[in-house]
Amino acid sequence: MTVAHNPKDLSRTAAPFRLDRARLAELAEMALAAVRRAGASYADIRLGETRRQFVQAKEDRLDEFFESVSPGFGLRVLVDGCWGFYGARSLERGAIAAAVERAIHNARAVAPIRVAPVQIEETEPHVAEWIMPLGVDPFAVDAPAKVERLVAVNAAALAAGADYCVSSFAFATEERLFADSRGSRIFQSRTRTQPSFEVTLIDKASGRFATRESLAPARAAGWEHALSCDLLGEARQAVEDARQKLGAKPVEAGVTDVVIDPTNLWLTIHETVGHSTELDRALGWEANFAGTSFVKPHMLDNLRFGSELMTIKADRSQEGGLASIAFDDDGAPRERAEFEIVSKGVFRNFQMALGQAHLIGAERSNGCAYADDPTAFPIQRMPNISLAPNPEACKLEQLIGGVEKGLYIVGAGSWSIDQQRDNFQFGGQMFYEIRDGKLGEPVRDAAYQGRTIPFWNSLDGLGDASTYRLCGTFTCGKAEPMQLAPVSHGAPAARFRGVTVLNTARD
Ligand SMILES: [Zn+2]
Repeated sequence: MTVAHNPKDLSRTAAPFRLDRARLAELAEMALAAVRRAGASYADIRLGETRRQFVQAKEDRLDEFFESVSPGFGLRVLVDGCWGFYGARSLERGAIAAAVERAIHNARAVAPIRVAPVQIEETEPHVAEWIMPLGVDPFAVDAPAKVERLVAVNAAALAAGADYCVSSFAFATEERLFADSRGSRIFQSRTRTQPSFEVTLIDKASGRFATRESLAPARAAGWEHALSCDLLGEARQAVEDARQKLGAKPVEAGVTDVVIDPTNLWLTIHETVGHSTELDRALGWEANFAGTSFVKPHMLDNLRFGSELMTIKADRSQEGGLASIAFDDDGAPRERAEFEIVSKGVFRNFQMALGQAHLIGAERSNGCAYADDPTAFPIQRMPNISLAPNPEACKLEQLIGGVEKGLYIVGAGSWSIDQQRDNFQFGGQMFYEIRDGKLGEPVRDAAYQGRTIPFWNSLDGLGDASTYRLCGTFTCGKAEPMQLAPVSHGAPAARFRGVTVLNTARD
């Protein structure tokens, strides 16, 4: 992905900007000129639209089809050290004029209860256009072709012996203009695609059932991603896996070694590292959706988060990354979002949005802002956050080979974490026994639990790039009103010693 400063580059993309850019620019200039006259010391505005589509099939029929286009803008102003904000679902001049007044009014209304003035760092202006390169625009593909594909996935599962199969595609495209009072004018567009299915098998004799969800990742990509995932093949495999689960023995609860596949580990990284190192949670400003954080500013550069093998990197540049983009929603270039959160086990950086840096004595934020809709206030959100693979050769077999008695865990399942991002419990799609360094049969009813710091310090084996996989979600929830952020997490396979495994049917 490249930042296209030359408008000619836009002609090479598969999904050109749908909105009239000249009109968006005109509205932005109008808003920024008006707030300047009204006395704002800083202002920014996001204008654009988000398109979403969700298609779901159950067995041999279409179950749900949903499409929405949400245009709008959000104007943020800084007046006497207070943020004021106003967003509306409109791209009309009248709505912009009204919003200027409301945003200024909102900032002044907050002034009497202000604790400390908002301080934002200096930022350099950027004039840029960035359109994510795309194979096939998913919104240009007919609905019947999508339904046909999903029904084919379900048919493959049913033919392999599934009792039920539900499959879906989710797509989204964001088009934005970011403009601020310091001179930034940034047009961006990106698209994402999420294929998904779940097979269910029922054992009529016992009445028990087993499910297996797809492992196909969500990606910043177009329809070509949906086609490139071998969903039919995976559906057949999923049925076989579910059948094995039905016949499997229950897991033996206790403390054991685990090798975790990236298809499971990404969610553990998300919950225990991604959310715990958000500065607003660490400072107690954000307490919703599994709350604040055990990580505190004084722990910077001295908390031993994990073993030497643990390096967690933030970025907005991984190809296919759901948080990959050229500029964040504060207008910060993605180079700022290239940093290590944990370096060789030591905690090094929080994630920060505009105005947070000075709270911990840092010079400037690191490109971690996102507004999930043009009408939403930009808040601190994760860039892509990934566990770096082992630079030295280490295959999955070597990790498993080093376990006398343990489990190999594949696919994300249920999750639960406390209000400090400390005590957690994660399920999975498949838990396989490991005996004497060899992979064995699946077991059922398993989950693992632990505490963030001891867990990451028990990391003693790390796969190399051959075991690395980029996974992620469309829907990381934060704030109130809730905003949903897309985010990717890459990981190699990894081995952890002495992890508590539960039997969820008994414990
Ligand atoms: Zn989340």
